[in-house]
Amino acid sequence: MCTPQAFLSKNDNAHLLHPITEFRTQEKKGPRIFTGGKGIRLDTIDGRSVIDGFSGLFNINVGHGRTEIADAVAEQMRKLAYYPSFYGFSSEPAIRLAERLSKLMPAPSEIDHFLFTTGGSDANETAFGTARLYHALRGEKSRKKILSRRWSYHGITRGAGSATTIPLYHMFSEPDPLHVPVAAPYCLRCQFGLKLHDCGLRCVDSVAETIQKEGADTIAAFIAEPVFGTGGIIPPPPEYFQRLADLCRSHGILFILDEVITGFGRTGTWFGMEHWNVYPDLVSLAKGITSGYLPLGAMGVSRRVYETIRDQSPQKYPFMIGLTYNNHPSSCAAALANIEIIENEGLVDKSRQVGAYMLERLQEVFKDHPFVAEIRGLGMLASVEFANPGSLDPVGGRPMAFTGAVVGRCWEEGLIIRALWENVSLAPPLCTTPAQVDEMIDIVRKAVESVTRKYI
Ligand code: PLP
Repeated sequence: MCTPQAFLSKNDNAHLLHPITEFRTQEKKGPRIFTGGKGIRLDTIDGRSVIDGFSGLFNINVGHGRTEIADAVAEQMRKLAYYPSFYGFSSEPAIRLAERLSKLMPAPSEIDHFLFTTGGSDANETAFGTARLYHALRGEKSRKKILSRRWSYHGITRGAGSATTIPLYHMFSEPDPLHVPVAAPYCLRCQFGLKLHDCGLRCVDSVAETIQKEGADTIAAFIAEPVFGTGGIIPPPPEYFQRLADLCRSHGILFILDEVITGFGRTGTWFGMEHWNVYPDLVSLAKGITSGYLPLGAMGVSRRVYETIRDQSPQKYPFMIGLTYNNHPSSCAAALANIEIIENEGLVDKSRQVGAYMLERLQEVFKDHPFVAEIRGLGMLASVEFANPGSLDPVGGRPMAFTGAVVGRCWEEGLIIRALWENVSLAPPLCTTPAQVDEMIDIVRKAVESVTRKYI
């Protein structure tokens, strides 16, 4: 006779593949199984209660255990769980969600048509295909390349994975040659060795040089995250996005904002673009759109892109992009209920206020630590970047050894956060209170102190 926990652990090792997990270590350590959650806390199968300081994967914006979303989904599933939206078939939740999003989008973006996907990778994949189609229909078939910045994460499927420029993702596969990496505004690690304010935004000039070199007439789109997420939570310098968007427009390159992490209040505004009044031609959404209660992503297009495809497509030629689960009614019902919670509970304002408090506390606690290279954040996204004093090498010389150990200690003390390279990063649910921020930062502080002792 084995206990349910022993049964699950054994069969997890025996049969379940875990993404972004090293199988050797996984078999030794076994799974960490969750059985429930409420607010910012999760219950584990062995009876612990831990704080979710990363909102799952930056996505559980409204927190755990929201029965309103479960009820909305159950009600929809009882009526109509699913029907495809190919050939003009439609459903009420998909229509209502598209209408809702077109109102939530900042008006100057003129983004008012949406295709719902299953997540962020396929939202980006769809955006690349749509951008190429747009150009081809306007007689510029040669515009196929996609520019993305170093340190970007845009997903893992072929196109989105090729726009992802973090080297670890390409250890055993070459990115698609139609994807061209460009300079990033990662000021701490400026690839030109310059300092912000004296640099004249050299990274934007460098993008201009890449466009020149590749030929603007070969480039379909530029994709960027408003705040680098997986790259380490890196907000841009103030004028960066305006200059970048102007540069793209002046060359007829479509500008895609990947708001997969930054959408739905994560940075203290509904969408990241609102911080800099920069408006894309296409937008990708996912994660916080349902707070993870069901899988969903979205690609939004501006009226100009929509009308070009509508008016320029040859007669009888359909929009040849389609997944079985596009515009899924049950997932759209989850998104509608989720957005209602964000609105009713003022979670966008809370994200801005509590996020500012979180950053202030991190600065207070860590600014004098000898290994701290930088503390960054926006809304409910924050990172403390660690490095060897006097250099930007990893502490102790081994990548992620320090940050990985800190995150491991935090888990032992009941807090889940993430090591993003040399960053210790937090992204708690938007409903987190200042007292809960204090609780998290106290755990992180003790973990950093304990790991630091091994290095000095
Ligand atoms: N874009 C960004 C900015 C992301 O952070 C992610 C996932 O982390 C994706 C796209 C891919 O989304 P998904 O994992 O839902 O395919």
